[in-house]
Amino acid sequence: MIEHPAQHLFDESGTGPDTSASTRAPSVARSMLTTAKANLFDFDRKGLRELFAQLGEKPYRADQVMKWIYHRHITDFAAMTDVGKALRDKLSEAVEIVPPNTLFEQQAVDGTHKWLLGMDGRNAIEAVFIPETSRGTLCVSSQIGCGLACTFCSTGTQGFNRNLSAAEIIGQVWVAAKHLGNVPHHQRKLTNVVMMGMGEPLLNFDNVVTAMNVMRDDLGLGLANKRVTLSTAGLVPMIDKLGEVADVSLAVSLHAPNDELRSELVPLNKKYPIAELLEACARYAARRPRTTITFEYTMLNGVNDKPEHARQLIKLMRRLPAKVNLIPFNAFHGTRYTRSDEGVIRAFQKILLDADVLTMVRRTRGDDIDAACGQLKGQVMDRTRRQAEFLRKLERDVAHAA
Ligand code: SF4
Repeated sequence: MIEHPAQHLFDESGTGPDTSASTRAPSVARSMLTTAKANLFDFDRKGLRELFAQLGEKPYRADQVMKWIYHRHITDFAAMTDVGKALRDKLSEAVEIVPPNTLFEQQAVDGTHKWLLGMDGRNAIEAVFIPETSRGTLCVSSQIGCGLACTFCSTGTQGFNRNLSAAEIIGQVWVAAKHLGNVPHHQRKLTNVVMMGMGEPLLNFDNVVTAMNVMRDDLGLGLANKRVTLSTAGLVPMIDKLGEVADVSLAVSLHAPNDELRSELVPLNKKYPIAELLEACARYAARRPRTTITFEYTMLNGVNDKPEHARQLIKLMRRLPAKVNLIPFNAFHGTRYTRSDEGVIRAFQKILLDADVLTMVRRTRGDDIDAACGQLKGQVMDRTRRQAEFLRKLERDVAHAA
């Protein structure tokens, strides 16, 4: 593991700022009635227009400012030269544009780039950009830590602190896009965003949806719907809710082909077992005729990588427009799991392919900077004990349902 040089930058006192406000979805009323300035990163186009209306400004003024932020990476109102001086002065008084603070960044030999971004005085998250020949993918976080405690996941071992605000989510994309010199529709370096970093995105629903709206807006990042992917551990009711409000690609952290094993790897499975999860996926797919749902399956040596597991997986996948991503496990300090051998992974893939289940093996990227899948850590102060509370509640719910 790499020790981040930025770790000393954190407040050692344990008295970081109150972050409660940033766990809420943005609200125009809140932003205008409190003394704190609204951060424009917290708003999608609709929200921004409402905010500008409260300032007595026309919607096209909001659109102009949005373009300065996401197409030109400008955060200083004074530099927005096609906006009149009076409005620039008014904006400087009333609102601000504040991206996350880059504490540390690092590039792997394969070009993978990782940012450690400070989210408040005590916590940091990582965002990772993975360049490939025909595309560039940014992996983004939605929470500081994660309360779902999947046993094979590095983030899951760190506990949970809080949800990220919409500004903190889209801010990760903005920092990467600025670094890359990405210009939507002209010089596209960032082609895909995957909500697969720290956290369960569907537990931070409103802020994630707002941020994904900006990613897909022509005045924002201008990404096609299918190039924005939300990955969930399987919160069934929220998959249905997502289907109603956002047209994005869906990925599911499956990792096991039967309930007994999945409940061990992904405790959330005790609440939403595989059959219910797949039914929700089928409903999600039914709304989008050409969509394919990606099922992520981390290959754990001797745990879920046997031929019988592949055969069970085939039965599950037959019901859906599905693609399976086999992910070689990336070990982290303290884990009890190891990576399946390359030959085992290829044999597992062949069983699926022979049954006409589209199956890819994900290449491991950024190994030398701990940026590979499942290795994202950041710095999480689990001062709330919400992870333990969540697991206790899950056990109670399951006992009650039995
Ligand atoms: S795999 Fe996803 S949902 Fe599970 S602990 Fe890790 S971040 Fe949370």
